[in-house]
Amino acid sequence: MNIFDYIKLEDIVNFTQRLVQTPSESGQEKAVAQVIAREMKRLAFDEVQVDALNNVIGRLKGDGTGPSLLLNGHIDHAEPGAMPEPYSGKIMDGSRFGVPEPVLYGRGAVDMKGAIACMVYAAAAMKKAGMKLKGDVIVAGNPFEEESAAQGVLYMLDHDNVKADYAICGEATNLNVYVGHRGNAEVKITVKGRMSHASNPGRGVNAVVKGAELITYLLQHYRLPKHDLLGDCTVTILDFVTHTTRKAPVVPDCCEIYVDRRFLPGETQEQILQEFRALIKQAQTQISDLDAEPELTKWGIAFYTPPEELIVQKLRVARRKVMGEGGELAAWVFGTDGAFVADRGIPTVGFGPGDEYFAHTPEDHLPISHLEIATKVYAQTILEVCG
Ligand SMILES: [Zn+2]
Repeated sequence: MNIFDYIKLEDIVNFTQRLVQTPSESGQEKAVAQVIAREMKRLAFDEVQVDALNNVIGRLKGDGTGPSLLLNGHIDHAEPGAMPEPYSGKIMDGSRFGVPEPVLYGRGAVDMKGAIACMVYAAAAMKKAGMKLKGDVIVAGNPFEEESAAQGVLYMLDHDNVKADYAICGEATNLNVYVGHRGNAEVKITVKGRMSHASNPGRGVNAVVKGAELITYLLQHYRLPKHDLLGDCTVTILDFVTHTTRKAPVVPDCCEIYVDRRFLPGETQEQILQEFRALIKQAQTQISDLDAEPELTKWGIAFYTPPEELIVQKLRVARRKVMGEGGELAAWVFGTDGAFVADRGIPTVGFGPGDEYFAHTPEDHLPISHLEIATKVYAQTILEVCG
């Protein structure tokens, strides 16, 4: 028998439904971690562990003569907002989402409970088929991804003795092969002015007006790096905060601008801050009395796994065997936990069911066929790497 004969779509659909029906916003992952742990035990994983933060980790033991593979993703989800029946996990006609097949609907379906279910069932197929593996297979569900970047996956890497030679991050890629993503820096620029009576603005320096001019200048003059696979870097104004209490009519003397700057691997915090300082200096030649100072307030790392890396090659071989072609290489638009795994020296590739475009939207859903295809590609990749 072929390994694919041990993969039954209805089991995966059923498990994904149970995951969606178990709400798990960040910090409330205990119940869903238990659902996953129970399923792993039922499917005869060699070891199943849930740690203090509700990382859930299942292992298949290899004989130690080959490379090991980590398949992981997060088990929390964005808040449902105004989404109707967010925890129904119901199967419905996909045409309302522009999908010509049935879909599984519910909060976290595409981001990313479907992928977790596929990973669990790909590993389970090895057990059912009685495969002897050379390297270990580790399937992990991580909490705390949506609200606090990477807290869960970092805790797992530091405390749970999870060591792997390669990793697959299962965030939605629409069944394409992703090789990383840009990083995100958040920079706060404090703009200072000078207070004066509003009846006599010429005596003061209006920080709000200077801030607005600086925003326009930044957007027009920031020259950003480009990357063939990861995409072009971007700069986005996140917020413009004033502190005026306006009890008396005064010219405001302070404001803050928050900027999101997407960056490429290799760019450093100091480089990016230096760019902001240089742009402000340049702006001062055109905006009189501009006094502004940038500081870094958030940093989410970038990652890039080159196409020639073994895990990318193996995944493409597996994809070709399942889908007929290795697939184009691309990258996520947003950040993932995969960056933190890659940062620990574990080459990481991205592959997952569903379209990332629907993550965090009220149209959160997953085409049913993706569940079967993704499980097969994961299973075949396990064989290519650990078999
Ligand atoms: Zn996600």
